[in-house]
Amino acid sequence: MTQTLDRPETQTPQSLPQARVDAWLADFEAALAARDVQRAAGMFATDSFWRDLVSFTWNITTVEGPDGVAHMLRSRLDDTNPSGFRTSEEPTEADGVTEAWIEFETDTGRAKGHLRLKDEGAWTLLTTLYELKGHEEPRGTARPMGAQHGANRDRETWTEKREREGKELGYATQPYTLVIGGGQGGIALGARLRQLGVPTIVIDKRGRPGDQWRSRYKSLCLHDPVWYDHMPYLKFPDNWPVFAPKDKVADWLESYTKIMELNYWSNTEAKSAHYDESASQWTVEVERDGQPVILRPKQLILATGMSGKPNVPDFPGMDRFRGGQHHSSAHPGPDAYAGKKVVVIGSNNSAFDICGALWEKDADVTMVQRSSTHIVKSDSLMDIGLGALYSEQAVAGGMTTEKADLAFASLPYRIMHEFQIPLYDQMRERDQDFYDRLEAAGFDHDWGDDGSGLFMKYLRRGSGYYIDVGSAELVANGDVKLARGQVKELTEDSVVLQDGTSLKADLVVYATGYGSMNGWAADLISPDVADKVGKVWGLGSDTTKDPGPWEGEQRNMWKPTQQAALWFHGGNLHQSRHYSLYLALQLKARYEGIPTPVYGLQEVHHLS
Ligand SMILES: Cc1cc2nc3c(=O)[nH]c(=O)nc-3n(C[C@H](O)[C@H](O)[C@H](O)COP(=O)(O)OP(=O)(O)OC[C@H]3O[C@@H](n4cnc5c(N)ncnc54)[C@H](O)[C@@H]3O)c2cc1C
Repeated sequence: MTQTLDRPETQTPQSLPQARVDAWLADFEAALAARDVQRAAGMFATDSFWRDLVSFTWNITTVEGPDGVAHMLRSRLDDTNPSGFRTSEEPTEADGVTEAWIEFETDTGRAKGHLRLKDEGAWTLLTTLYELKGHEEPRGTARPMGAQHGANRDRETWTEKREREGKELGYATQPYTLVIGGGQGGIALGARLRQLGVPTIVIDKRGRPGDQWRSRYKSLCLHDPVWYDHMPYLKFPDNWPVFAPKDKVADWLESYTKIMELNYWSNTEAKSAHYDESASQWTVEVERDGQPVILRPKQLILATGMSGKPNVPDFPGMDRFRGGQHHSSAHPGPDAYAGKKVVVIGSNNSAFDICGALWEKDADVTMVQRSSTHIVKSDSLMDIGLGALYSEQAVAGGMTTEKADLAFASLPYRIMHEFQIPLYDQMRERDQDFYDRLEAAGFDHDWGDDGSGLFMKYLRRGSGYYIDVGSAELVANGDVKLARGQVKELTEDSVVLQDGTSLKADLVVYATGYGSMNGWAADLISPDVADKVGKVWGLGSDTTKDPGPWEGEQRNMWKPTQQAALWFHGGNLHQSRHYSLYLALQLKARYEGIPTPVYGLQEVHHLS
């Protein structure tokens, strides 16, 4: 049902934006109800985007223009049978665009969304499933009782029940889903699946939840501010630091795992996985505390980290170099290197953090920049880039994390850079002195291929930037030395660049980034399955390290892949939080036997 356009005269007259949105929603719903796809599609502007997170498509996908909308609706409208389109708050209007938060339902679930209308019709539409009918989460008014009042000779306490579950699951009973990788991604997904009642085990080869963060270099604090970083269900308290130190994040994750009652197996490494098509079931060999266990889940999720598979370069002479050398992921921190010569290969986040910490301990540090890097000052990013949605001011203005996540999701990737470019123009202007000094020091700085800055680089290639929390200044003023060029080789005691520059080193740190997540599938399942699934991450923007064709969404993340029952989950804390909901709902629907015909399963264009 749409909201009525007629209101009693005693009420304030309906605003123009409200009337406009109500009329559009009513027409749209009528066209959908009449299965008049052409009419519904005709309500979209020529340049328009409908981004759907699972509610219509059982996929994460964006269709473009009236033709794209018609194509999707022809395939999905009958099954979806949407109704009840209405606004959930008063629409607003600015610069010729009317914006509205909406709600509706389908035959299987309840959904929320966001609409932007222009004169020509809908410009952007976001539709997102948030719960399955009949499978609502037991929370709020539906929260569990906890206590069992009355007399019961078979009473089992909460602890006994948890212990029994812990003993049986994976042995006497099988999990429906197995999440390999218990970092923040696996933990967030595990919490959602727990809430949805999907039997799940999260395994991690490390000793304790949070060890992913504990093991990183000791100076590390989150680069993103607290408002952006909440886990699902349980927000950080309001005394939580803006940039949480890594070990504090680790402890939070460990506590969260307990509080959210995850079946989390530490010290458990997945050794191999094989999918039996006929039984629609995985056989996964794991080693738990050194003992082999065979798990037979129906769904397998790789949450093994997009910053988890180190890209270790293969430079000539690495075998004869007599000093220390390690990838940034294995860097222990600066303490052992006071007074030593350290060469850090790379010029992105980890490189800067590591250089800064080494300099603080009096190491003689040289950064080797091999390609251009985008740097943005943390303060400017917070104020200009994130402030409207994720900040104390946003919270004070009534912005919830969930609403901020949807607002973020409402911008289709195809046009997101157009919104980002002006923000980065502002940052450039604000910090012009800094950029001048940095470039004068010889640093090769860029703003992304199209000037759209950090977030688009992250989405497109997951690399190529540094959120400056101070170390860039050390490069600008020469405290950390800068060398530019490709590495030719290592000798017994030096790193030699292609131009002949020789850099003496006691330690070489390879801050050379991480590989595509389908590399994990190659290791665990098979190279064939990794190729079948293809590259993970990126939008197909045809910019550096993100080859086309255009995909419209992040490749293979949180949605069905070309390999049945294989999924990828991860990303930063914001993405893990937000997209774990849609992945969990897709898994829950399959667990409950709800048909999930996937629209627009992505094609594979790149192997890695
Ligand atoms: C230096 C650095 C700083 C970062 N800063 C931020 C930040 O400020 N904010 C932010 O949101 N993100 C940040 N990130 C990016 C990202 O959010 C983190 O990398 C985060 O840890 C990713 O979480 P994840 O759960 O996807 O993967 P991970 O934390 O990498 O967890 C993957 C887990 O999989 C396990 N695993 C892998 N293979 C197996 C196997 N075969 N069997 C069992 N377990 C296995 C690993 O042990 C690991 O614990 C940063 C990344 C790095 C490297």
